[in-house]
Amino acid sequence: MFIVMSRGHTEGELKGILDRLSEMGFSGHVSKGVERTVIGVVGRTYPELRDTLEFLPGVDEVVPITKPYKLSSREFQPQDTVVRVGDVTIGGAELVVMAGPCAVETERQVLDTARAVKAAGANIFRGGAFKPSTSPYQFRGLGEEGLKMLAMAREETGLPIITEVMTPRDVELVSRYADILQVGARNMQNFVLLDEVGMSGMPVMLKRGMSATIQEWLLSAEYILSQGNHKLLLCERGIRTFETYTRNTMDVSSIPVIEKVSHLPIIADPSHATGKWYLVAPMALAAVAAGADGLIIEVHPSPDTALKDGVQSLTFENFKRLMAQIVPVAQAVGRRVMASV
Ligand code: PEP
Ligand code: MN
Repeated sequence: MFIVMSRGHTEGELKGILDRLSEMGFSGHVSKGVERTVIGVVGRTYPELRDTLEFLPGVDEVVPITKPYKLSSREFQPQDTVVRVGDVTIGGAELVVMAGPCAVETERQVLDTARAVKAAGANIFRGGAFKPSTSPYQFRGLGEEGLKMLAMAREETGLPIITEVMTPRDVELVSRYADILQVGARNMQNFVLLDEVGMSGMPVMLKRGMSATIQEWLLSAEYILSQGNHKLLLCERGIRTFETYTRNTMDVSSIPVIEKVSHLPIIADPSHATGKWYLVAPMALAAVAAGADGLIIEVHPSPDTALKDGVQSLTFENFKRLMAQIVPVAQAVGRRVMASV
């Protein structure tokens, strides 16, 4: 449930309520909006609690959260969550672009790509050192060696790094190198991993599972938020449907749905959503038009020889072209594309 403070409440009354909540074993999450201040009550609430809280000085009303997901809901926090990673702000007025190869392959490949995507205007560098693979015979990533190459790319370009962590035992290791931990689609319901990335306190991007409903996705987000980690991004990366022409079906409508029901930033991944490089630009533009807070795009120096996801990877040239195409679309929906650091 959440507490809506009366319009003229004092700071003392707000503090009084937070103290009372803590005495009762709850914690309060304060959101100061333009119009009203709202306190989200975190903990195992019960219906009678509403009466107790409603009589406290400064309280206007107490409203139960009707959705099964609580901390991620707009009811709980009306204003948008903004996640800061170095100089990059995600979830604000500016559109953020993350780009890089699917997998880290060589030092040369990583550095060349990082320089190229930065020159084209990307804000964050992506690359997988631990790769989830449908087949165990595919390339599964360079592990820590790959993380070191990502750190070199950050050193060289100044771009923060997003990279995937697949198991709770690697969270500590990946956190030493990464700026954002990515939880992949196949791990969206790996609840032990969700707890662990929640406890890490690191910024996290949670990808939508390929067969997950929006509600299931947000319930997974709750695992991370309920560990006290609010630096959370969601990522739409396509869902599995009967259509086989594309790798997945990009659920563009989930972008405005998330915007409506949640305060969390929403990033779109047209690379995994389509699986074909020539569909990446049109779906990236569709996602921007639909209100996405950012994009994550696979880019490779030589897609034909990529060890992973070459078919959906953009060349440097195509990525540069896409960055130019995004500008007027973002503008049309009241957004600016963030300048590269
Ligand atoms: C990736 O980002 O390279 C990846 C494996 O994505 P997903 O988890 O969405 O399949
Ligand atoms: Mn990939």
